[in-house]
Parts: sequence; C-alpha cells; structure tokens
Amino acid sequence: MGIDRINDLKLHTAPLQSQLLVALQRVLESGWFVLGTELSAFEQEFASYCGVNHAVGVANGTDALELALRALEIGAGDEVLTAANAGMYATSAILAIGAIPVFVDVEAKHLTIDPDALIPLIGPKTRAIIATHLYGRMADMLALQKIADQHHLVLIEDCAQAHGAICDGMRAGAWGNAAAFSFYPTKNLGALGDGGLVTCKDEAVAQRLRSLRQYGWDSKYSAKFAHGRNSRLDEVQAAMLRVKLPFLDTWNKRRREIACLYVNHAQHPLIQHPEVQGEDYVAHLYVLRSNYRDTLADYLRVHNISTDIHFPLLDYQQHTLRHRFSDVHLPVSEKTAAEILTLPCYPELNDISVHQICDVIRAWNGQ
Ligand SMILES: *Cc1c(COP(=O)(O)O)cnc(C)c1O
Repeated sequence: MGIDRINDLKLHTAPLQSQLLVALQRVLESGWFVLGTELSAFEQEFASYCGVNHAVGVANGTDALELALRALEIGAGDEVLTAANAGMYATSAILAIGAIPVFVDVEAKHLTIDPDALIPLIGPKTRAIIATHLYGRMADMLALQKIADQHHLVLIEDCAQAHGAICDGMRAGAWGNAAAFSFYPTKNLGALGDGGLVTCKDEAVAQRLRSLRQYGWDSKYSAKFAHGRNSRLDEVQAAMLRVKLPFLDTWNKRRREIACLYVNHAQHPLIQHPEVQGEDYVAHLYVLRSNYRDTLADYLRVHNISTDIHFPLLDYQQHTLRHRFSDVHLPVSEKTAAEILTLPCYPELNDISVHQICDVIRAWNGQ
C-alpha cells in the first residue's frame, strides 16, 4: 500500500471526512457561496498562522503570483528575476503581465535561487525577484531580502511548496512584499479543488489584490484598477481549508520524519540525498539526485515504487520559450535537472512503506 503512488489523497482526506462534511453543510445552509464569512475567516486564520497582516484568497497559485506582481505594480517591460527550475509557475505569471523573466541559476545545495548568481543580473529594468521555496525548502531569504532592500527591488515569495516553513523565526509568506500560496490538492495544505492566496504586509497592496480578484472593482460595478479579473477562493474551498489548517504543522512534521527516514535508511553510493534538517524545510517533495536517475527510476518502477521528476524541463527550455531564451545557460540548473528524482513523501505514508522503499533502494546494484 502507498508506495505505488507519489501521493494518496484518499488516505489524506478519509480521517477528516466528518469534519469536512460539517463544514460543507455550514456553507450549504448559509446559502452564500462566494466572498462570504468562510473566506474572510480563513483569510484571518491563515494570515495569523503566517504572522502577516493581510491574506487575500484567490482562485489558484498561478493567479496568486500574477496578481501579486500586478498589485505591486510590476508591469510590461519590467524585468523579474526568477529561478528556471520551478515548473514554469513564476515564469507564466511574469509573462502573463508582459514583464520579462530573467533566469537566475540555483544554489547547488538546495536548488533554490542563488543570491550570488542574482546580483550580476540586476540591471536598470530589474524591478522584482520571485523566490520559489522549492520542494518545501525556503530560499535564502536573509540574503535575498538584503539584496532587495539594497537595490530597491520588490521581493515576492512563491510559497506553493512551503506552507508552514519557518526561517529565522518567520514563516514562509511573511518575508517578501507579498507571497503567493497554492492550495492545489497535493500541496502541504490543499483544498478539495483549486485555490490560492496572497499574503502581504501593506494594506494598500491588500486592497489592490481584493480589487484585482474581482474585476478591478473598488466598489460594486466600478472598476478602479486595470487588469482586474475573476479570481476568487470560494466559500466551500475556504471552509475545507479551515478544517485542514489546524493539522498543517502535524502533517509537516510527519513529512519531515519521512524525509529523515530516507536520508538515514536509503543510503547508496550512487545517490545524493537532500538536506532535510531545519524548520525551513517542510518536505513538500522528497527529491534525491543521481547521475543514474533514469536507471534508478526504471528500477523503482519494476519494484512498484512510484517516482516523478520535478521538473524535467527548465523554463527556458520549454517548447514555447526556448527560441526566445536560446542564449540562457544555467549550469547548476541544467546539471541537476538531469539528476533529480522525487520519491513518495506524504503524511499518510507509513514507516513500513518508507522502509520498504529504502530496502529496495539499498539493494539497487546501479543497473
Ligand atoms: C503548484 C505550484 C504553483 C501553482 O499553483 P496552482 O494552484 O496549480 O496554480 C506555483 N508555484 C509552485 C512552486 C507550485 O508548486
């Protein structure tokens, strides 16, 4: 059970079913389905969990990134620094607003955006940095914040893989000018469908976000802000998330335990394990590295162990972008994209299953 899939959402929701149904019934009986009391309660609860002033629910994590950029007044022609190994999410948002992604290499250790590689890429058109906390590991926010302050750049966190992570006493989502969250079902905190949210410090930014998610309205039927749209987190999803939020820390703790089991029990000369220590890691994905990644993936498949690759193509290598960015070469990102392999790591995976996977890995003869 469990090891033949990379995640198992049935196991995840089963113990919560009665609580979720109670919450669903509450929404049904309220007769109010969009922008109501469930959303404002969840926004408050999530803001207070993250230790930020404002949280604004939106339709999904990609919208959260795009609306965060817009709310911080990044626009056409502005350059935004971002890593290229994080699944196109930030890049899609940057392109959607007509801004220009400038791809920065990642640190070899954590595969998050490398502050040292970033500095030389800052130019007169640079306006913002998007720091993706990849695989549940927070980017080097102390260094990035310092750079952003020095160069007057907007700093946006992509927290879609890092709900609940803490660096230097502050949660992911409390660092930048704004932070984007996704509640896609497989995330550390997932809805029963799509969902997203932006956190921010500044009341004016929060106001713009609330307006942008609803056609740019400042009051009913009066659009004050350009580029408004419909991007809302509905009452049912907000109610589901309110049930789940109190469990987030426990789930993250279990994810970390699983990651530690892998490090301790799946040692192999051809495998490099990630660093799993620290509160700034919430083990969203357990990603190891091997020069023989494809061989290892085949071997695990034969043993009924499911794996995945997050992410096989760098953003500038994507079909739609590779011509435009043909001069971009990021050595660490390119090298590691060929080495990474994701193992099952979700809170409901039990020790027996993890040990089974570890046993199979230790027995791998490299072929
Ligand atoms: C999942 C994810 C997103 C996008 O979230 P959606 O809700 O699917 O739009 C953005 N960034 C990262 C790093 C993600 O993992």
